[in-house]
Amino acid sequence: MIEKLTIIGVGLIGGSLARALREAEHVREIVGYGRSVGSLQQAVELGVIDRAEVSLTDAARDADIVVLASPIGAMPEILTALKPVLNDRIIVTDVGSVKGDVISAARHILGAHFARFVPGHPLAGTEQSGVAASLADLFQRRRVILTPESETDSAALARVRAMWEIAGAQTVTMSAEEHDRILATSSHLPHMLAYCLVDMVVRHDDYRAIMECAAGGFRDTTRIAASDAVMWRDICLANREALLAAMRQYQEDFSALIAAIEKGDGAALLQTFTRAKHVRDSLNKKL
Ligand code: NAP
Repeated sequence: MIEKLTIIGVGLIGGSLARALREAEHVREIVGYGRSVGSLQQAVELGVIDRAEVSLTDAARDADIVVLASPIGAMPEILTALKPVLNDRIIVTDVGSVKGDVISAARHILGAHFARFVPGHPLAGTEQSGVAASLADLFQRRRVILTPESETDSAALARVRAMWEIAGAQTVTMSAEEHDRILATSSHLPHMLAYCLVDMVVRHDDYRAIMECAAGGFRDTTRIAASDAVMWRDICLANREALLAAMRQYQEDFSALIAAIEKGDGAALLQTFTRAKHVRDSLNKKL
């Protein structure tokens, strides 16, 4: 049982975690802290949190677990403000989509308290944001990746792992470097493609006609371009090297596709499309 859970940033992910733990009756009190009074009020009205605090230190004081669920660009500032109330009991964890950057900030800022910082990332979400979009079952059967460092306290890690499992998730552990490299291709690159495609179409001379003819293919490929812009700016900047490597690999493969079309190389196109279709068909059973 968590006696006091503090969520910093009660949006889609923070709100969904609060809802899931409440539904599982695993938490006695949920306190929220955020940027705007309006969204915190909404979180209270929706019953996602019990109360909101206007001071971050008051929100975190005496908590069992503090969850950082803000955009990652705000986390260094939040960790700095948190530090004075941390003790040997409070566990701090985060849900940020990039791990290496958040971990180096936490190590630098938290000092001795870094041992009770458990880095995490739930592989769940939607293109929507804000507490109104939060769902109690968002993490059901979804993975949460935990990326502990050598200093991470094993009891703190076990408690955060148990929290996510009670919220319905399956937890896995890997290094932050591996996490950031894999997510650059599985998640960050697809978002870049979706944003770039929509932005290209918006600036196209035939924009209106293109939109009138856009159907399932355009909708399915670009759904994630509706994701929060601040969140994705922060992810790009925090995972710059791994994302650039994935984007350059894609650029190379895209150039090969252009070359095959230029040359009228139907065999190359068929080979690429057949291989991709085979993989995508098998994914339908897993996704
Ligand atoms: P969200 O719905 O926009 O929620 C973010 C929350 O953080 C909002 O309540 C926002 O307050 C608050 N916030 C913004 N700046 C803040 C600050 N400086 N201090 C305190 N609170 C602040 O975003 P989300 O989708 O839940 O994403 C939150 C985190 O989860 C991000 O780090 C993201 O990388 C990670 N994540 C997202 C997904 C996804 O698919 N969305 C999946 C996994 C992990 P306001 O309401 O006042 O703006």
